Amino acid sequence: MMPDAQMEEMGLQSFTTLKKDKPIEQDGQINAYVRCVATAITNEVGGEWEVVVFADPTANAFALPGRKIGVHTGLLTVAENQNQLAAVLGHEVAHVLAHHSNERVSQKYAVSQGLALTQALISPQSALGQAGMGLLGVGAEYGILMPYSRVHESEADIYGLDWMAKAGFDPRESVTLWVNMGKQGGKQSPEFLSTHPGHDTRIANLKKHMPKALEMLKKARAQGKNPQCRK
Ligand SMILES: [Zn+2]
Repeated sequence: MMPDAQMEEMGLQSFTTLKKDKPIEQDGQINAYVRCVATAITNEVGGEWEVVVFADPTANAFALPGRKIGVHTGLLTVAENQNQLAAVLGHEVAHVLAHHSNERVSQKYAVSQGLALTQALISPQSALGQAGMGLLGVGAEYGILMPYSRVHESEADIYGLDWMAKAGFDPRESVTLWVNMGKQGGKQSPEFLSTHPGHDTRIANLKKHMPKALEMLKKARAQGKNPQCRK
C-alpha cells in the first residue's frame, strides 16, 4: 500500500488541478447549503475538510485523500434534500477513509512510483496523470472513468449510512437517493453512477442495515443533532 502521506499528496494535487480547471460556484446560498451538510458529516469522522462547490451541471460529487470534498451543482437536482446529499457525501467520505483509492492505486503502481504519479496529476492530460485521476475517482473531466468495485461500493454504502445517521440525517433517504439516481437512465444518467455503479443488491443492503442506522439516528437526535440545511 502507498503511505497515507503519499495518498494525501495525490489527493491534494488532484484537487488543486480540478480547482484550476473547473469553474467554482459563487452563489453564497448554495455554498452555505453544501457546507452545512458536509460539515455535519465530517464532524462525525473528524478533521478539517475543504469543501468546494463546482458550477457543473453534471450530477456528481467526490472526496479525496487529504480531506477534500467536491460537489457539482448538478447533483443538487438529483439529491433533492439535505438527507439525500448527506447520503452521497457519507458514501464519498467512506471511500476515502476506507482507503479504497489507495487499494486501487497500489494494485497498479509500486510505492516507488508514488512521487511520479503525484507529479503527473499537475497535468492530467498525460497518460499517467489521466490514470491517477481515474484511480482517485475524479477522471471524468479527463476522459477516464474507473468504477469502484462492488465490494468497495457496499462498504462505502454501509459506512456512509452510519455516518449520516450519526450526524442526525434520516438514513432512509439514502434509499430514495439511489432510486432517484436510477430513474434518470440512458443518456441523462447521473455522472455519479459512472464511477459508483448501481447494483441490484445495494438497496437490499441498505435496508438490512436500516434498523441499526435508525438506532444511531435516535441517539444523535437525543444529543441534539438535528441539521437544518436548506437550499
Ligand atoms: Zn461509491
